[in-house]
Amino acid sequence: MKDKRFYSFLHKQIPIIVALSLFPGLGYIFLGWIHGIQTAAIIWYGLIFCTSLWGYRIYRAFRFEEMSEKEQSNWYLELSWFYYIFFLLWTVIFLLYVTEDAYKLHYIAIFTQIGASTVASALLISDKRLFIPIIAILMGPLIIYFYNIGEWYGYILSIFATIFMWVLYYAANSSFNLLQHTSHQANHDLLTGLYNRHFFIDYLQQRINSLKEENHYSYLLLIDLDHFKTVNDSLGHDVGDQLLREISLRLTQNIPQDSIVARLGGDEFIVIGPKFNNQARCQDAALALSEHLLATLKQSYIINLHHLYISCSIGISLMDSRSTNANQFIKEADIAMYEVKATGRDAVFQFNEEMSLRVESHLMIERLLHFALKKMEIELHFQPQFDQDKKIIGAETLVRWNNSKLGQVSPADFIPIAEQTGLIIELGEYILESAFETFRNWCDRGIELEQFSINISMRQFMHSNFTDDIKRLIHSYLKTDQVKKVIFEVTETIVAEDINKVVAIMHELHDLGIRFSMDDFGTGYSSLSYLKQLPIDEIKIDRAFVSELYQGQDESEQAMIMTILNMAKTFRLSTVAEGVETEEQFQILSNQQCKIFQGFLFAKALPKVAFEALYFDNRK
Ligand code: C2E
Ligand code: MG
Ligand code: MG
Repeated sequence: MKDKRFYSFLHKQIPIIVALSLFPGLGYIFLGWIHGIQTAAIIWYGLIFCTSLWGYRIYRAFRFEEMSEKEQSNWYLELSWFYYIFFLLWTVIFLLYVTEDAYKLHYIAIFTQIGASTVASALLISDKRLFIPIIAILMGPLIIYFYNIGEWYGYILSIFATIFMWVLYYAANSSFNLLQHTSHQANHDLLTGLYNRHFFIDYLQQRINSLKEENHYSYLLLIDLDHFKTVNDSLGHDVGDQLLREISLRLTQNIPQDSIVARLGGDEFIVIGPKFNNQARCQDAALALSEHLLATLKQSYIINLHHLYISCSIGISLMDSRSTNANQFIKEADIAMYEVKATGRDAVFQFNEEMSLRVESHLMIERLLHFALKKMEIELHFQPQFDQDKKIIGAETLVRWNNSKLGQVSPADFIPIAEQTGLIIELGEYILESAFETFRNWCDRGIELEQFSINISMRQFMHSNFTDDIKRLIHSYLKTDQVKKVIFEVTETIVAEDINKVVAIMHELHDLGIRFSMDDFGTGYSSLSYLKQLPIDEIKIDRAFVSELYQGQDESEQAMIMTILNMAKTFRLSTVAEGVETEEQFQILSNQQCKIFQGFLFAKALPKVAFEALYFDNRK
C-alpha cells in the first residue's frame, strides 16, 4: 500500500531531478550554439524548462494531510507522466546529438545518457513503475545506437550497455526491496504483522479527506480485549503474545474488503470500514460487523495446550464529513468503548452525544473537584438511623458538594471520580476529621448515639497513611467509649484487594475500638468465607432489596432479605436496612428481626443543625 513515506519520498525527488537536468541542459545549448544546431537546442531546452515548471507545479500541489485517496492517486499519475516525458526529452537530445560528429559531440551525448540513467535509477528507487520504464527509455536507444554502428566494437559496446542497463536495474531493484522492507517495518506491528498506529493515523486522515470530498460515510471500530492482563499475568507473556497473534488473524480474516485493521498497542485494535454512500447502511454494517467480530473472537483458542476464552469490548464511531479531524473520531470510538467497559464489557456501543456529555461532565467534575476543598464547598450531612421504636440511635455521615457552577453534585457521581484521580485521599481525610469533630461535639452536647457511621473508600482504606491518620484523629477528638461507637462502612469491593493486607488493617483498627459495616450488602460478590475472615460487625442491606418489599408477598419473593437476615443472625452481625421508604417496608423488616432502619420514611441526610433539631425533637 502506498503510504505517506512513499509519497513524501517521491515528492522530495522532484526538485533534485529538475535541478540536475536544468544545469547540464544549459551545456547542450552552449554546444549547440557552437555547432550551428542552436535552434534545435533552444527548442529542446525550452521544452525541458516548461516540463520543469510542470514538475514544480506538481511539487507544490502535494499536501498529503489534506489530500483524499483519489487526489493522491491522481497526483501520483500526473507525477509518473511528468517523469516519463521528462526523461523522454533527454532521449530526444541524445538522438539529436549522437549523429553530430563535430567536436565529438556524440561522445558527450553518450555519456550524458549514461549519466542520466544512473541518476534516474538512483533517485527513483522507491517506485518500480517509474524506474523500470525510465531506465528503458534512456538506455534502450543507446543500446540500439551502438548496435547500429555495425562494427565489431559497436556490438561489444551494445553488449556492455545492455549489461550496464541490467546492473542499473539490479541495483535499483535491490534498493527498492530494501526500502519496501523498511517501509513495511515502519508501518507494521512486529508481533502481529497488522498495521501499526503510525500507519493507521495517516491512513485514517486520508480516508476522512475522501469522505468529505465524496460525501460518503464510513466507520471506526475500536476493539479492546477484556481482562487480557489476566492471561498475561497467569499464563505468561508467551501465551499472551500467541493469543494476540491468533486474534489478529481472526480479525484480518473477518473484516470486509476495502477495510483495514491495525493494532494500536497492547490489546487494542482498530478497524476502518469501507466507504458507504448511505448513512443508515453504514451504521447497519458497523453494527453487524461488530457483532460478528464479538462472536468470532469469543470462540475458544488453543495455545500451548491451554483452552482460552476471551471477550472484547467494541466502541463504534461513525465517520462522515462533519469533521476532518482524525482524533475526533478516534476519541468518539474510545468513549463508546469505555462505556462498554463501564457497563460490564463484552458488548458493542455506538458513540452518541449523550456519551460525550457524560464524558464532558466527568472531566468538569474532575477539574472542579480539585478546588472544592479549598473553596469550602464540601459539607457533611447526617442521615439518622432508627430502632424498631423509631428512636434515633445512630447517624451515617454522607458527604455533599455544592459547587457554584454545577450545583449540588451527588457523591455517587463525584466519589468514583475522586477515587480514580486519587483526590479521595485528601477528601477522605477532610471528611474523617470533620466527622470526628462533629461526633465529639455531639457527645459533649448530650446527643447520645449508639453508633456513628462514616463511609470509607477503598483507595483511602488501602493508603499507607490511613491507620496513622485514624490514630491521630482518635487521639485528637475521641474518648475510648466514643471510639467504640464509630463504624467504618466499607463495600464488598474490598474483597478484590489484597485480602491479607485488608484483614491486617481491619484488625489494627478493630483493636482501637472501631467497628466495621459491610455497605450495600448483597450487590457485590462477597462470599461467606470472606465474611468470616473479615472482622465485620454489621451489614447494611442494600436499598435494592428493601425497595422490593411489600405486604402480601409470598415467602419466596422475600427470600433474599430473609437469607441475609438469617445469615447475619448466624454470624452475630447487627443489620441496618437501607433506603426504607414506606411504613410497609418498615413493618415487614421489623417483623423479620431487623433492628436498625435508615431511609426517607424517617429522614433524608440532613445538615448538622437540622440533624440536631430532629434528634432533640425525637427524644422528647
Ligand atoms: P451509601 O453509603 O449506600 O449511602 C446511602 C445512600 O442512599 C445515600 O445517598 C442516601 O442519601 C441514600 N438514601 C438513604 N435513604 C434513602 C431512601 O430511602 N431512598 C433512596 N432512594 N435513597 C436513600 P448519597 O448521599 O447520594 O450517597 C451515595 C453514595 O456515595 C453512598 O452510598 C456512598 O457509597 C457514597 N458516599 C457518600 N458519602 C461518602 C463519603 O463521605 N465517603 C465515601 N467514600 N463515600 C461516600
Ligand atoms: Mg454508606
Ligand atoms: Mg449503602
